[in-house]
Amino acid sequence: MFDPHSDLLTNTVFAAVDLETTGLDPSCDQIIEVAVQRFTLNAEAGHFSTLVNSDIPIPPEVSKLTGITSKDLVNAPDFNEIKSQVSAALQGAVLVGHNINFDLKFLSKRGISPTGIIIDTLDLAYIIDRDSPDYRLQTLNERYQIDPGTKHRALSDCISTMNLFLLLLGKLTETSEPTLQRLQKLASASGWPLESLFTHCLKSPSKSTVNLRNEIPINTIDETITSISNSSKYQRDIEPIIDYGLIFGPDGPLTNNLGGYEFREEQVQMAEDVARALNESENLIVEAGTGTGKSLAYLIPALIHSLQNETRVVISTNTINLQEQLQNDDVPLSLRSLIDLGVESADSAIVAVLKGRSNYLCRRRFEQHLGRTVIDREDALLLAKILLWIDHTNTGDKSELNLTRKAHNILWNKLSAEGAGYCEIPTGRCFLRNAREAAGNSNLVITNHSLLLADVATAGAALPTYELLIIDEAHHLEDQATRSLGFEINQPVVTDIFDRLTGQDSVTATSASLLRNTLSNENQLTRLNSIISTLSPTVNSVRTNFNTLFGLAAQYLENSRTSNVRGTMRITDHRGSRSWNSLTDISENIRLEISDIINSLNLLSTLSEPHLNINAVQSIQNDIGSLRTDLIELNEHLIEVITEPNPTAVYWIREGARQTYGIFCMAPVEVDEALKQNMFSQKDSVTLTSATLTTNGTFEHILRRLGFNPDASNTLPSPFDYRSTTLTLIPKDLPDPRDDRYLEELSVAIADAAVAASGKTLALFTSHAAIRHAYNRIRNLIEHADSDIEVLAQGISGDTQRLIERLRQNSRCILLGTASMWEGIDVRGEALQVVIITRLPFDVPTDPIYQARSEQYSNAFMDYAVPNAIMKFRQGFGRLIRSSSDRGIFIVMDNRLVRSRYGSKFIESLPSMTVKQCRRDELRESIELWLNQT
Ligand code: SF4
Repeated sequence: MFDPHSDLLTNTVFAAVDLETTGLDPSCDQIIEVAVQRFTLNAEAGHFSTLVNSDIPIPPEVSKLTGITSKDLVNAPDFNEIKSQVSAALQGAVLVGHNINFDLKFLSKRGISPTGIIIDTLDLAYIIDRDSPDYRLQTLNERYQIDPGTKHRALSDCISTMNLFLLLLGKLTETSEPTLQRLQKLASASGWPLESLFTHCLKSPSKSTVNLRNEIPINTIDETITSISNSSKYQRDIEPIIDYGLIFGPDGPLTNNLGGYEFREEQVQMAEDVARALNESENLIVEAGTGTGKSLAYLIPALIHSLQNETRVVISTNTINLQEQLQNDDVPLSLRSLIDLGVESADSAIVAVLKGRSNYLCRRRFEQHLGRTVIDREDALLLAKILLWIDHTNTGDKSELNLTRKAHNILWNKLSAEGAGYCEIPTGRCFLRNAREAAGNSNLVITNHSLLLADVATAGAALPTYELLIIDEAHHLEDQATRSLGFEINQPVVTDIFDRLTGQDSVTATSASLLRNTLSNENQLTRLNSIISTLSPTVNSVRTNFNTLFGLAAQYLENSRTSNVRGTMRITDHRGSRSWNSLTDISENIRLEISDIINSLNLLSTLSEPHLNINAVQSIQNDIGSLRTDLIELNEHLIEVITEPNPTAVYWIREGARQTYGIFCMAPVEVDEALKQNMFSQKDSVTLTSATLTTNGTFEHILRRLGFNPDASNTLPSPFDYRSTTLTLIPKDLPDPRDDRYLEELSVAIADAAVAASGKTLALFTSHAAIRHAYNRIRNLIEHADSDIEVLAQGISGDTQRLIERLRQNSRCILLGTASMWEGIDVRGEALQVVIITRLPFDVPTDPIYQARSEQYSNAFMDYAVPNAIMKFRQGFGRLIRSSSDRGIFIVMDNRLVRSRYGSKFIESLPSMTVKQCRRDELRESIELWLNQT
């Protein structure tokens, strides 16, 4: 056995353990195979492996996965017969396993509870390898080229785990000594068994000789997407007249730089439009159909304009995904192409990506957390992951960390620069400041709508100054502006604020201990003690009052359930009612208590002011400042919701995750004036673009919604030939989506379509509830049809990105998706040949924002609801044909498309193609016929 504090691991025996089971629940499922592989750092040391008899039949999916059938277990021993052999195999060894808690729970249920050191390779891989898409054993085997032998069998998984452990240990050995020392300290503060490994690595003789970095691709961060120099003197080597026909033409530089590049007339047209808007200081709106290549069509003119005129262009996207696609693919491609064209200054072009504060690590907060004497095990895992990253990152950007655990995203919020204030950190050490400075020196800043709107709200505090703006995914701008200008008062936010005030490591506790050591004057010490002793009961009382308030809100929701959809209640004339008085009374108490707390914080600030030259005092002063801002804002929001509503806003209560608490919400009814006054009219040129901006062939709806007045507009159709590649099918005999029989018949139709297309299907739903209902039914129907098509569902079968990847890689599957999948998917070729829209994507009529906005129209349904739904419908359609060689079928399972007066507007919004109405029982034949045509 090894000594975690001093011994090298050389003489230690490890035991990799793995079980195969009938399911995931140790209380009712059974072990069907057990294996233990003993080893040292230098050699294997014997193994034990056996099948185990099971009282319950092996589920088909387990047999499919492991290859073990009930027949194989007929002559296998019972677990009790082999229990002593398993115990002996584990005896005296350090246990190693992948997600080992799962195996330990099953073993413990059968009376084996190892007590020694236990190492989980999943944790180890999670902190060491930031680039792995996930941390399943199978993924890591592929990544590190570990031959797993027979997949999903206990002994081969033990051997994989052993190899993975040795590989990761070798990698850890390469870590610098100071980092290992900090890891060791962290492990000790959290009671983490990995302390032994860190001690070993510190003492390892091979420390400086092994270079595993060559074997494992660890993410060392790009300097930037392009060189970030300090120069703002751009060379004027570009002729004022640029030939976009040449740049995007078949003989142009993009052909050499992008494999499979196809010339598209529409792309040239868009680039010329964007260039004109930038040169002439005009506002432009341009819809570019799927496949136009719009990113390059705005990036290239934006870069040229910036280099020619020594000016900055800001590009905003809705999602960080698109931001990263521009950063990693489109910007480097654009710059390479400009360099090939002979634009020398493109070589020194500076492109910066700027995200919201919450994306950047705050070093001060990180060090503060690391300095704690007691650290939670889960927190320690994230802190260790950051420790192994912080010396390699130039950006401090969360996206590099690959945080796959929910709890870590919550802790990250406490480590990020969001609300972190300011400290005297040496130049170049603060990631946020670095990112902002880089943006300040750049030709192009790529940001997202959220930060763009935060910049508008803070009068330019979030972005460097700019006059030229291009907004991609502009169809999301209204929603994002609504979110940015609105607010929520909910329990997690309130708890976070008051946790920062009292409790371990809170502002109060830290200031008290710091100032007690700093203040020398007896009077000041008395004042300090008096502030601290009043704060605690006031905070406790305000917490209780908030709990009562959230409880009353939930009660309100419950009482209004007959007239409202479950979970939401718009606040209209309630404020005058008697029952509202109890909320008013509580909120008044809260208001007074928060004012008292703010006074106490002010007194604390005054006491610390003479000692701001001490770094720790300065740091705590920052925390006090940010808390004060949050408390003032909380108070203002509360008064607004409960007693003093703004007539241009809408307010509602919605159900919290725990149904006993309600959440108060506010949103502006309209955002057009705010956008017009504070953004569009402030810039020389604004371009709005997206694949879906028109409804009924015009921009009228989006222009009204956003308050945008363009000088020019263009609608560029998709270059794809939908007439010969795409068929739209409308099963006209399905019940109306509001009919009780609809979901059952829909499930049958979807299963039919998926079988006819051999999978390769994406079905888009408008609610998670409908997916949950349809998922089991479709699985049954497909199994009944004796098909091996896999059914995957968003929110049921795992992480969304992984599901999309499964669809991309295993075409024999059907994916049921909602919300983000209507526009978040780009699956090309044969992997996706059928897209199904289950019902027309109208907004929920009881949604308070929808209601309030509808009231602004005389014919709200036709002028507001239908155009909104058409934009979303077109996004769904856009998932199908992603390249000129794609072929597919678009099925709309909502017969309102042919029965209602507005249905034709949806069909007319699609490109020209064959549209066929059919009976449900004709779906299979129509699909097979179309897909088999060449
Ligand atoms: S300047 Fe702000 S974000 Fe940067 S390290 Fe200091 S407190 Fe954190």
